[in-house]
Amino acid sequence: MATNSTPTKPIPPTPAAPPRGIKLSSQRIAILISVLVALIIAIYLGISPYLEFRQRVLALALTFSSCFLLVYFSYEALIFREINNIYAGLEKFKRKEFKQMSTKFLFRPDPLQRIKDEIYLLAERNQKEIEELKRLQAMRREFLADVSHELKTPIFAAQGFIHTLLDGAMDDERVRDKFLMKAAKSLDGLDTLVQDLITISQLEKGVMQMKKSKFDLNELGREVLEQLEGKAQARNITIHLLNASEEVFRVIGDRGRIKQVLVNLIDNAIKYGSENGNIWLSFQDGKKKTLVTVQDDGPGIPKEHHNRIFERFYRIDKSRTRDVSGGGSGLGLAISKHIVEAHKSTIAVFSEVGQGTTLRFKLTRVKD
Ligand code: ADP
Repeated sequence: MATNSTPTKPIPPTPAAPPRGIKLSSQRIAILISVLVALIIAIYLGISPYLEFRQRVLALALTFSSCFLLVYFSYEALIFREINNIYAGLEKFKRKEFKQMSTKFLFRPDPLQRIKDEIYLLAERNQKEIEELKRLQAMRREFLADVSHELKTPIFAAQGFIHTLLDGAMDDERVRDKFLMKAAKSLDGLDTLVQDLITISQLEKGVMQMKKSKFDLNELGREVLEQLEGKAQARNITIHLLNASEEVFRVIGDRGRIKQVLVNLIDNAIKYGSENGNIWLSFQDGKKKTLVTVQDDGPGIPKEHHNRIFERFYRIDKSRTRDVSGGGSGLGLAISKHIVEAHKSTIAVFSEVGQGTTLRFKLTRVKD
């Protein structure tokens, strides 16, 4: 299943605003007010006849410094209190969503710039979340449309057969049996589709636990071949198990789910392979892993479809939707991919048009 994520556009950090006129810092404001107060006092002292020149200068200096300290500290305290309040609120909000923020920034110089950066960071993350939610919503919408389309085909087919029977076709015994069989086949297909939908939703939600055990892949291979032999024969396809029956390939995994993967891959090779063709199933031990290979000599898969065939409901031949002609639920490879990934592996596809198809994945070997 491919997730075409639309890349989210990060908000660029805001460049520092170019200085417009005089930048008013608390220090500058304090100096300005102090100079003003000192000037007024100086004018007053200048016209006062009681003080000498040195005393006037001293009074002026004292007035300036006490005024500066008073204004500067009260201003700073006010700003810090306000900023701390804003920051505390921001912290509370961030702690809920983003744990990585630290309080050390509070004691850094330029707290206003710091807060500005933090707000931009928050906005950027929220923006990314919104984009992700939008993407998921679009995917959900697409999935819903696909599901309803897939459900429609077998329901309409069964409905059509049953209505034709009710409209009189029931009287002819041969037609009745034929139509009932067709309706039953459509409903069987519907059942498979619903089962596959339940499986994929559980796999995607991550609620399906793999029941891991040790088992022999060669034995499982024989079981799968036996199950699919009839279907292969119907298209005159021969399935070969390349390993000798006495060989043992002990692996760790969920036997039932791995069986489902093998059935899906071989079933596809039968459905999409060439009539009178061949399918080869083989196992090969590596150092830590065992390689599982399913190969066919069918028409192959064009390169541009290699990744897409693992998407839900993706079919190369769009006209081959699920119907009695043998199309699957369109979920087989998506389910197989999830199962193999839950075994910490991936399915690799090697195929060229006219050269057949090979699908491979690995399972963890049991050490002897
Ligand atoms: P479906 O239920 O349609 O078989 P899958 O998910 O199993 O869905 O497969 C997706 C598509 O991949 C198929 O519709 C088919 O077009 C293509 N495909 C899968 N396996 C093979 C194969 N061995 N050879 C050619 N095409 C294949």
